[in-house]
Amino acid sequence: YTAKTRKAGVAFYEPEMNRRAAERLQLANHLRRAIELDELELHYQPQVNLADGTLSGMEALLRWRHPLLGLVSPLRFIPVAEETGLIIPIGEWVLREACRQGVRWRAEGHAPFRLAVNVSALQFEREDFIETVASALAETGFPADWLELELTESVVMRNVEESARRMTQLRELGVSIAVDDFGTGYSSLSYLPRLPLNVLKIDRSFVSNLGQDSASLPVVRAITSLAQNLGLLTIAEGIETEQEWEVLRDLGCEVGQGYLFARPQPAAQALPAGTDVAARQVRPA
Ligand code: C2E
Ligand code: MG
Ligand code: MG
Ligand code: MG
Repeated sequence: YTAKTRKAGVAFYEPEMNRRAAERLQLANHLRRAIELDELELHYQPQVNLADGTLSGMEALLRWRHPLLGLVSPLRFIPVAEETGLIIPIGEWVLREACRQGVRWRAEGHAPFRLAVNVSALQFEREDFIETVASALAETGFPADWLELELTESVVMRNVEESARRMTQLRELGVSIAVDDFGTGYSSLSYLPRLPLNVLKIDRSFVSNLGQDSASLPVVRAITSLAQNLGLLTIAEGIETEQEWEVLRDLGCEVGQGYLFARPQPAAQALPAGTDVAARQVRPA
């Protein structure tokens, strides 16, 4: 941990730096054994059709239940996993576990729905990523058509040609592709039509306070109309109020997720056995 100016313009005092470095090192050491100790779990957050409040899909979100540290947020440990390369085995576990859960839900008789899995840059850029996805699908028996991979805008933009090539291979498997946190990447829009995408996910920062203070209203309107023109599905993240739901629905955003509908929960609570997905209203429209 060399540069004092790692966070631009902010100089940490040495003790603070040492404390942070020590914490990261400790996290990394613990994370190394998290898979074998069975400390990782996936929670699932429903994605809802904004027109009627019925279930459209589920996003798998990783949780680390550490015996001493408690439930560690992915915002804390994913960066450590990326720095140490541990994101590769962890990401592979996530993919497989999500597919296994998708198969379990089907075995319980649920009608099919999209299952979204987050993928980090390091995974996506690996030469064997397509094979990893293909074998997770083959070994679990989860149908590719219902798997959606979420990539952030910045990951996609690192090398647009290469991203397009990989995405095409994924699409050939039958998997669909979402751009996560869309609108936060400061990127040019000209790359969008060149990529075989299915979904744009509108970042939570544009969704919060929609309606009350309408500063982000034009941005959201632009994103939804862009998506419509490109034939992409729009999913809004972080919907917390009725008002945000209403505004998004009126703008033509098809799908949304957020605490208003449900928080991420373990599989059994996210979709209890015996509920009819097609009819299931996560919240009355
Ligand atoms: P993300 O993919 O953009 O996921 C959305 C985040 O927003 C989740 O945080 C979710 O719990 C949170 N969220 C959903 N609805 C609301 C809401 O109404 N209000 C607020 N305030 N937050 C809401 P979470 O689960 O802590 O995950 C944070 C990030 O960690 C994710 O952002 C994703 O980038 C990353 N992550 C999570 N799981 C994985 C994974 O399996 N692999 C990889 N590579 N990254 C993951
Ligand atoms: Mg996501
Ligand atoms: Mg997101
Ligand atoms: Mg986000």
